[in-house]
Amino acid sequence: SITIGEVFLQTVRKFPKKEALVDIRRGIRYTYKQWADEVSRLANAFIGMGVKKGDRVSTILLNTSELATAFFACAQIGAVFNPVNFRLSPKEIAYILADAAPKIVLFEKAVEPQISHIHHEFPHISFCYIDNDTPPYAMNYWEQVNIASSQPPRSDVSENDLYAIMYTSGTTGRPKGVMHRHREMVEQSLICNSIMRIRETDRGLVAAPMFHCAELHCCFLPRVHAGATNVIIHHFDPKQVLEVIEKERITSLFAAPTMWNMILQENISAYHLSSFRIGLYGAAPMAPVLVKECKERLGIDLIQAYGMTEMGPAVTFLLEDEQLTRAGSAGRACLNHEIRIVQPKEDGPSDPDHVLSPGQVGEIIVKGPCMMMGYYNREEATEKAMYKGWYHSGDLGYMDEDGYLYVADRVDDMVISGGENVYPREVEDVLYEHKGVLDVAVLGEPDEKWGEKVVAFIVKKDPNLTAEELERFCKNSDQLAPYKRPRAYYFVDALPRNASGKIQKFLLREQMNQSAKS
Ligand code: AMP
Ligand code: MG
Repeated sequence: SITIGEVFLQTVRKFPKKEALVDIRRGIRYTYKQWADEVSRLANAFIGMGVKKGDRVSTILLNTSELATAFFACAQIGAVFNPVNFRLSPKEIAYILADAAPKIVLFEKAVEPQISHIHHEFPHISFCYIDNDTPPYAMNYWEQVNIASSQPPRSDVSENDLYAIMYTSGTTGRPKGVMHRHREMVEQSLICNSIMRIRETDRGLVAAPMFHCAELHCCFLPRVHAGATNVIIHHFDPKQVLEVIEKERITSLFAAPTMWNMILQENISAYHLSSFRIGLYGAAPMAPVLVKECKERLGIDLIQAYGMTEMGPAVTFLLEDEQLTRAGSAGRACLNHEIRIVQPKEDGPSDPDHVLSPGQVGEIIVKGPCMMMGYYNREEATEKAMYKGWYHSGDLGYMDEDGYLYVADRVDDMVISGGENVYPREVEDVLYEHKGVLDVAVLGEPDEKWGEKVVAFIVKKDPNLTAEELERFCKNSDQLAPYKRPRAYYFVDALPRNASGKIQKFLLREQMNQSAKS
């Protein structure tokens, strides 16, 4: 195995004149050779700023060429790349910076309001600004980079060195820093490449956040590995996605389910999308009816990935031809990966040897070559999560006789109503089929009689939609036993989601508690 720095340089030697990176906002177009010069300049600038092997470098950036360049510059000198979610509050960012203790933070105008609140807490960090009008407490990125040499720096990085620390989006609790080595990410890149069959002729659109591993590891890095082109837009915007697919002759795109849903609301037939070949979705569940609509209206093949930051992230793929025949499934284990469904335990990690039979719902545990080394500064949490060498996902699901995985829900999201288990996702998938529904979240509301009752939060597509209509729809569905039908419908303007598109059900629960009190 080789390092990520070597993966990059191999591609540069093979395809020096090929278009490598396009940043739409900045109007930047680099060939691989030009990009390699930029990467070396930044790597040398980092060294000039005192960054040594093993030091952390944090980026708090929207999707931008500087983030892409920092990724490989860190890899070249063995610095540990730490991409941070730019949407976090000042307090949340401060928590991560205190934990990761980076030497340098790269940031931009859009996050300056957050950084201006907290920079004084970190006198030992150099804050480095990529836009004009650098604030007084920061230095300017370009002033550092433009004077640095474009000679690749000497490097003694090994495949067993840390490559990155990524903080999990955390739908619950404090974020934890997932540590990965070079070897794990090179392996992940190979796996994703083989699944999506990326070639140097491919042109991928980077629209999902690059600080999240789904975009960074499953698409961006595999494209560089293959000598393909990455076209970056600043942040996800459905109109711009369609425009850029047409203009830049895009062939592939990763988007979270909520993003695909937004694309489907646009006037798709107004765009010329003939180059568009393949879409990847995942990071959160997607209702089968939406998958079908994407396929039909965008005319692309779709592949689903299921996984988590801790696993690099991909664990399973549902391939193009399985989308309709295995609808609802997340697919089968990817190469060199193993999955087990085991009996969950109340008090501590479930036992990897307590394996359930096909069809039985239990905790999904996994093993594979891209598994994290552990959580940074969190020995106890690491031991629990990686108990007996298996990553314990906290997801519930089952496997069928053929090894197809069905992800039910988070262990914590399951509703127990009158002693019966209800998996919100089953109910959500049915409600999505109603033409008047744009978005839906199902959860349990405390109830004196049933312990919990099933309730649904609904974002309307049709303004005339009523609770009675949805009640009738669920009654007529042959997929929902009576106890699974929502007992109440709450109509809302939007659902709270985190950056990777997961619904933050804890916020909806808080909302319910508050309205119950008042
Ligand atoms: P993250 O920590 O951001 O990597 O999120 C990982 C979690 O996202 C998993 O543990 C699942 O709960 C959820 N997830 C990821 N992919 C899928 C998928 N294809 N279907 C359902 N849930 C998913
Ligand atoms: Mg997680």
